[in-house]
Amino acid sequence: MKRNIRDIVDQMTLEEKVGMCSGIDFWHLKGIERLEVPSIMVTDGPHGLRKQAEDADHLGLSNSVPATCFPSAVALASSWNRELIEKVGIALGEEAQSEKVGVLLGPGANIKRSPLCGRNFEYFSEDPYLSSEMAASHINGVQSQGVGTSLKHFAANNQEHRRMSTNALIDERTLREIYLASFENAVRKAQPWTVMCSYNKVNGEFASENKTLLTDVLREEWGFEGFVVSDWGAVNERVSGLEAGLELEMPASYGLGANKILEAVKYGKLPEEKLDFTVERLLRVIFMIVDNQKENASYDQEEHHQLAKQVAYEGMVLLKNEESTLPLAKDSKIAVIGALAKKSRYQGGGSSHINPTKIDDIYEEITKSASSTSFVAYAQGYDLNSDEVDEHLVLEAKDAAIQAGAAILFIGLPDRYESEGYDRTHLHIPENQRLLLEEISKVQPNIIVVLSNGAPIEMPWLNQAKAVLEGYLGGQALGGAIADLLYGIVSPSGKLAETFPMKLSDNPSYLNFPGEGDTVEYKEGIFVGYRYYDTKEIEPLFPFGYGLSYTTYEYSNLRVSNKDIQDTGTITVDLTVKNTGEMAGKEVVQLYVKDIESSVIRPEKELKGFEKVELQPGEAKEVSFTLGKRAFAYYNVELKDWHVETGEFEILIGKSSKEIILKDTVTVTSTISIVQPIHRNTNVGDLIANPKLAPLATELLKEANKNNPLLESAVDSEEQAEMMEAMMKYMPLRAIANFSSGSFTEDMLKEMINKLNEAKEITHKL
Ligand code: BGC
Repeated sequence: MKRNIRDIVDQMTLEEKVGMCSGIDFWHLKGIERLEVPSIMVTDGPHGLRKQAEDADHLGLSNSVPATCFPSAVALASSWNRELIEKVGIALGEEAQSEKVGVLLGPGANIKRSPLCGRNFEYFSEDPYLSSEMAASHINGVQSQGVGTSLKHFAANNQEHRRMSTNALIDERTLREIYLASFENAVRKAQPWTVMCSYNKVNGEFASENKTLLTDVLREEWGFEGFVVSDWGAVNERVSGLEAGLELEMPASYGLGANKILEAVKYGKLPEEKLDFTVERLLRVIFMIVDNQKENASYDQEEHHQLAKQVAYEGMVLLKNEESTLPLAKDSKIAVIGALAKKSRYQGGGSSHINPTKIDDIYEEITKSASSTSFVAYAQGYDLNSDEVDEHLVLEAKDAAIQAGAAILFIGLPDRYESEGYDRTHLHIPENQRLLLEEISKVQPNIIVVLSNGAPIEMPWLNQAKAVLEGYLGGQALGGAIADLLYGIVSPSGKLAETFPMKLSDNPSYLNFPGEGDTVEYKEGIFVGYRYYDTKEIEPLFPFGYGLSYTTYEYSNLRVSNKDIQDTGTITVDLTVKNTGEMAGKEVVQLYVKDIESSVIRPEKELKGFEKVELQPGEAKEVSFTLGKRAFAYYNVELKDWHVETGEFEILIGKSSKEIILKDTVTVTSTISIVQPIHRNTNVGDLIANPKLAPLATELLKEANKNNPLLESAVDSEEQAEMMEAMMKYMPLRAIANFSSGSFTEDMLKEMINKLNEAKEITHKL
């Protein structure tokens, strides 16, 4: 329906306009009946609908209406499957429509800076490209159903420790390349209807009143058209927030925020036009929601459950499979051990905690998959609510293990170990689970570990297990998915979207996480996740992008469309992938780019493309990538823009960040040369390194040094000449005068600098 939003705002009283800028309760925006502005509902997100009826809270404590619990974001991302994530988004949109929810509060695109962050399970990846691609697919899916999303938590909310007060200090390049990039692509590609600002400060300013983030970057640069909502309770000073670009305060502050805005307008501290503009932005989205509402919407619960199972298949990652222990034969005698097999952990704690429509029990599903005559024993093994070893449970589990041909051990992190609201302090599993594994390994050599956790753990026990399946937090259909993966009905195809370090102290943020008091400095800079491990050559436990399958794939025939391009052009990269095994499967082909030589510090390689392909045994398919400027660029803080330094880049095709199979080299030429004026302190070496200036600079330097008595006496062999040249490299121009014993005067220096600057101007224009 066509409306004139400007007209509606003009008809509002000042009080009504101010009122629109805060919610009416925990989950609803204010409406104005006389102007037919309805009160719309927003609800968490991100992997299921958490629509609370009464007893509202933002910590997932009170129950909500039943909804499909899809795997958490960590598992969605490990699928590396854009289409699948979009399908999840569509399903979430359908559920929101059927519950008359206007905005789903998600997805979360914060980067996994440290494996300790309590909310990592709700985020996609340590890599901004993968994270933003996943977020974009999620948003596209939900919004295709006429329901808005809220891309959160913008920005740099990478820990739960002091999340409402901590100040994240991040240098500009790191902020751009890592933390903002994870949101940027999602905003540009999928245009979320709302963005949720985070609780924390970013470089000294609360995100909720950070104009650089909310206006300059988000709207002016990235073209965001929706409204910004505060994280629940993130408002510090309501007026400063509004000025910075925060349209909506949530939840209701019952007049607190509204009165402050009212006074600011009345006393001329806030122009009314600014308020009008804010309300217009709110109304635009509100009416988009209204116009897209579907009457009598419903969804098929069973269909969504099956979709949750599909995602669980693709989001679980096979980490180890010695002696092809998996898949299990249907008639294997097995012992299922571990409380987590019966009381499964399929989602994380906090505001994303939802009430599932049903849950597939892991133990039951395994029993169903085994042949009717096969033996499946069960033993609890440990108490999930405690870390204490229970000898009796251990003995019982050992008994079950002895009788079987293989023991499937369900271990991982209990709810209390990871949740929204606090971070972990270590990467261990509970001691009673670790000890159980050790004891079982004394009586049963064939141990298959299935993990339930939302973020990496250390595995000093890895050699006690023949196979390890990372089940993550697999959603309500996890039971059937685990059974099918264990029995080989489906081949695992998940790949890690995060690095598992050998030990916590290997992680690049280790020395600066979670910071001192209310300050956390991101001192590792751009070296987050594999960008650090690969550059520093630190062997991880499992690298980024890693995951095994029951079949094998061959990569061949790498073709690059153009080996020499300008940074305004694009190239396509093609290759052939073949399933050379005996089972159907899906493979994630990863493309990384490496800048071979650079004057700025860059990571060893960066992910710039990925595709997931489904292949029958013997089948081959072509995979194609298109790379543009951003694939080769770094963020140049002087240009305040992305910049490609002219030179050679390697295109690396791999199965993980560590396992590169094919490579080729391309040359990219920059269309922008950075002109920095030459001055007294310009280094000689920097002039010579510029190919366009080198001839003139060499000539002028020779001239300048001609009568230098020191140089004449010092250089009497070729070796000494080379040494002199090497030393001269780091000499500023003024030093030629300093060391010339008066033969090169200040005026001569000025003349030389002028000539060089003139030449630089001319060559720049050419
Ligand atoms: C969380 C958000 C959530 C909101 C509403 C906050 O505590 O950080 O992610 O959407 O509560 O529940």
